[in-house]
Amino acid sequence: MNKLINNEKHYVTLSNYLKDIYHKKVYKITLNGNFTCPNRDGKLSYNGCIYCSSKGSGDFAGNINDSIVEQFNNQISIMEKKWPDGYYIAYFQANTNTYDTVENLKKRFDLIIDKNNKLLNDKIKILSIATRPDCLSDEILKYLSELSNRITLWVELGFQTSNELTAKYINRGYSNNVLDDAVKKLHHLNINVIVHIINGLPNETYHDMINTIKYVCNLPIDGIKIHMLHILKDSTLANIYNTKPFNLLTLNEYVEIVADQLRYIPDNIVIHRITGDPDINNLIAPNWVLKKFVVIDEIDKYLRKNNYYQGDLTINLK
Ligand code: SF4
Repeated sequence: MNKLINNEKHYVTLSNYLKDIYHKKVYKITLNGNFTCPNRDGKLSYNGCIYCSSKGSGDFAGNINDSIVEQFNNQISIMEKKWPDGYYIAYFQANTNTYDTVENLKKRFDLIIDKNNKLLNDKIKILSIATRPDCLSDEILKYLSELSNRITLWVELGFQTSNELTAKYINRGYSNNVLDDAVKKLHHLNINVIVHIINGLPNETYHDMINTIKYVCNLPIDGIKIHMLHILKDSTLANIYNTKPFNLLTLNEYVEIVADQLRYIPDNIVIHRITGDPDINNLIAPNWVLKKFVVIDEIDKYLRKNNYYQGDLTINLK
């Protein structure tokens, strides 16, 4: 069993994983690189994924009116009061952060670490880039590979579900094999890959959600972010929900599903998140997602009560 799994935490948390490597608190500085998204600018669609807010899933990203350096400095001045001794992950979260020319990507990411390996701040240890798997051309992969020789690089891919019918319904805009291809190429370049999934998507069953976990765990990924579907005010899903409300998972249902999903995830895969973190001002439902620490605590209690551990069902993955 992974040494980071213990009686208290029955799965490998991101924070324990990072503490084990860096021996310090490592926290995210969330930046907005002012990118757009092919699922919003008309290349694929103008509507976006149905759950996505106008901020492009970057509700806590920096202010786009500030330069990246200003965003970074503003955030560390706040965070350093809490963790004066920590290290940073420079996280490009909002929209699709590889949806541009390589030249323009360099204007953003080379600010974090330049060609001569000079860091924007010496306490930055990781560069994390959130994107879509269909926005990784060979040219962009070549640049990411170069970047990964300068700094630990994470690429985060929004996948959400392996059910292709749901993928169509949520307007994801690409098929599963696009993810397979992107993960394999990134893995081949030794880039750390994190896949995002969402539980509770409309019409999805328990088995769909378990299948999604099995699907992504059969790819060479390094981390998973598990989110609960939440309905944000300025999303397409809000219109659907307001016109015809559909069932959302309860906290208890969510806890049981996540616990079961964790059991299928091999213990070499880091669990970056087990619940979402919506902006309270923009949330329609469900309200229980706002109590992030309660959700995490309930999952921990459920795992302990049932003696379930991350990966204890991995043998049944296929
Ligand atoms: S790919 Fe990401 S940014 Fe683009 S519409 Fe979907 S969730 Fe929003």
